[in-house]
Amino acid sequence: MKRRYLILVGFLVLIALGPLILPEFYVTLLNYIGLYAIVALGLVLLTGVGGLTSFGQAAFVGLGAYSTAYLTTASELPVWMAPFGASPWLALLVGLALTAMVALLLGALTLRLSGHYLPLGTIAWGISIYFLFGNLEFLGGHTGITGIPSLSVLGLEVRYGREFYYLIWAMLLVAVWLTQNLLDSREGRAIRALKGGTLMAEAMGVDTARSKTVIFLIAALYACLSGWLYAHLQRFVNPTPFGLHIGIEYLFMAVLGGAAHVWGALLGAGVITILKQWLQDLLPKIFGSSGNFEVIVFGVMMVLMLQRARDGLWPILAKLIPDSAGDRERSSVPHADPLPKKPLLQASEQLLEAKDVVKEFGGLVASNNMSFSVRSGEVLALIGPNGAGKSTMFNCISGVDPATSGKIFFRGEPVEKLNSREIARLGMSRTFQHVRLLPTMSVLENVAIGAHLRGSRGVLSALLHLERAEEQRLKAEAARQIERVGLKEHMFDQAGSLPLGKQRILEIARALAADPVLLLLDEPAAGLRYLEKQALADLLRRLRAEGMGILLVEHDVDFVMGLADRVVVMEFGEKIAEGLPEQVRQDPAVLEAYLGGVE
Ligand code: ADP
Ligand code: MG
Repeated sequence: MKRRYLILVGFLVLIALGPLILPEFYVTLLNYIGLYAIVALGLVLLTGVGGLTSFGQAAFVGLGAYSTAYLTTASELPVWMAPFGASPWLALLVGLALTAMVALLLGALTLRLSGHYLPLGTIAWGISIYFLFGNLEFLGGHTGITGIPSLSVLGLEVRYGREFYYLIWAMLLVAVWLTQNLLDSREGRAIRALKGGTLMAEAMGVDTARSKTVIFLIAALYACLSGWLYAHLQRFVNPTPFGLHIGIEYLFMAVLGGAAHVWGALLGAGVITILKQWLQDLLPKIFGSSGNFEVIVFGVMMVLMLQRARDGLWPILAKLIPDSAGDRERSSVPHADPLPKKPLLQASEQLLEAKDVVKEFGGLVASNNMSFSVRSGEVLALIGPNGAGKSTMFNCISGVDPATSGKIFFRGEPVEKLNSREIARLGMSRTFQHVRLLPTMSVLENVAIGAHLRGSRGVLSALLHLERAEEQRLKAEAARQIERVGLKEHMFDQAGSLPLGKQRILEIARALAADPVLLLLDEPAAGLRYLEKQALADLLRRLRAEGMGILLVEHDVDFVMGLADRVVVMEFGEKIAEGLPEQVRQDPAVLEAYLGGVE
């Protein structure tokens, strides 16, 4: 930790001394690196962390630049706008507000798109906004706007490159700090969970559409800020720097630097800017004619990188300084007052009731008129051969994939129309047959996602790190659940490094962190060794004794029979038997369909 800290301080000192010792040329270069890094930082959040690819960030840079250019230079502004032209800082506010509006609109239109439709969408609006800049009369068309005033900060004139340098880098470092704070928070975990697909995050109560909008908005606002600085540094704007090809370059910076790391934005912006400068000097000499040859080199680099170093340069650099985030965490198992829990259940309360649930996939009826109920303090096992429809029932009950027809009541409320987030809030928590976790995050962080709904502090307090007390409690809760399921020694390991059986146990801890009254476990014992299975059965017995209801899908018949209070047997989507374990065990239909065949 000390070493990294020293390096950071050294870096900041160098940044501070830069303009005092460097020639003008390098100061200018560093100014541009700073401007680009602010945009790339937004892309780290959006693309690297959130997994949403945008080629259109340059358009938001343009919005920031053109807003201030127009407002601070127009000779006759409409009356209601006139006050905003009085100072570049007011123009910045207008630019940010305008960008926010455009981003929210574009976000609403494009963020729903999945797969490659999203990047295509960003290309579409990237091009449209660029052409708008070039074709609007009052923005000066392709010639642009000149005569943009310099800035003043607290009465100090910011006119020359060296003065701008401090403003740009101060803003960049603040943005880095804010972004890092955000990522290290409840909201940040929700954002990082996006990469694991929305299904798990939603089941843990994360509003994924909102998280996506948040990062889209922040990335757009960073871009706008960069554009505003750019306009006042250059003192003129035209549409060229806001086109699609620059949008691609921004993305390349983020990806090259290491798209999942905040410092990667700086590294990427630095490497690309310096390399571009260098290639623009060198390549025309080699080819003997002028042209944008560097584009070709960048293209080749991109392909090489995608093959050789997908995670970008930052992780490679960070490895040289051995002091991983895990080590920092390791020194402190989080402790804090426990979070409030849901009131204790009444004994034998009816928790879940499924009535005539039908689920069709096209022509296939995966679940046909399934009915059963689970009470508090009870383990109900749902068994049946592969493909019987057990996981399908889980998905219907937990709101992941709604039933075609039928009724489902949870604690007396009809829930068949609710989404998985709303159902999670009511106190149902689940694991997945195919483990869904974030492999590069620590076990602790993964489990903390489960506690999402037990926190309430939002994005603003996360950005400013005003939610430390709550965050500590969420982490402490996660740590308690990890200890409870017996994964304490793995608390700070990467979740992906655990054997599959332990990943399943991790999912149980994550589900428990939500403080559920009903636990849905889809094949939790698969991949566990004998002793681990025993430990799991003990854990489930303890949970049952506390009054929790447990719905369990499991293949291991001995495991099920030794644990379950009642058993429901499914085959081909239908219930073929129900009763006490020993009754079911002797049921001829069950022996025929399942136990006899498999065991
Ligand atoms: P189980 O969990 O009992 O092994 P599933 O519920 O996973 O069984 O599957 C039941 C049946 O529904 C299977 O025939 C499976 O192929 C089908 N099925 C499950 N999910 C889907 C889906 N999303 N689309 C189409 N068919 C599905
Ligand atoms: Mg299944």
